[in-house]
Amino acid sequence: MPLEEYESKRDFERTAEPPPSEGKGPGDTYVIQKHDASRLHYDLRLECDGVLLSWAVPKGPSLNPADKRLAVRTEDHPLDYADFEGTIPEDEYGGGTVMVWDMGTFENIKDKPLAEAVEDGQIEVRIDGQKLRGNWALIHMKGRGEKNWLLIKMKDEHAEPDTDITESMPDSALTGRTMEQIGEEG
Ligand code: MN
Repeated sequence: MPLEEYESKRDFERTAEPPPSEGKGPGDTYVIQKHDASRLHYDLRLECDGVLLSWAVPKGPSLNPADKRLAVRTEDHPLDYADFEGTIPEDEYGGGTVMVWDMGTFENIKDKPLAEAVEDGQIEVRIDGQKLRGNWALIHMKGRGEKNWLLIKMKDEHAEPDTDITESMPDSALTGRTMEQIGEEG
């Protein structure tokens, strides 16, 4: 069942996050949500077959192709989650502030369907976001824990080894708000 794990972790009477629903979007939604849970991380999500495939990236993305950022695969999320920004109650799963840090579209640049590239543990996408652009790879680390992947900027004109994008562009791509504002306003 798609989204079964997503549903099992949440009480939709208590969290403002969207309940599971069947998606039929354009098929190319890309989003990164900055999530100030027990530990701050960045949730990368890519649309595939009606859901958002999801990875939690503790350090966030790096524009430096030499950096390999740990990306821990998490449960698929509903497409509606892509524009969720607000606060999850402290005692709920993932309690804390969620910001839409980056949003846009992506294109699968492997010569096979995205679902197959996920199976193979070798994803390559061209991202067209407000902050991230160009080609990015997600590589499954075999034998290092089922859920561990690496997020790597591929070399192209959008690589910027000297820019710390999470530092230089910290605010919401959806509303321009800071984490503090979202925390106060919900
Ligand atoms: Mn998260």
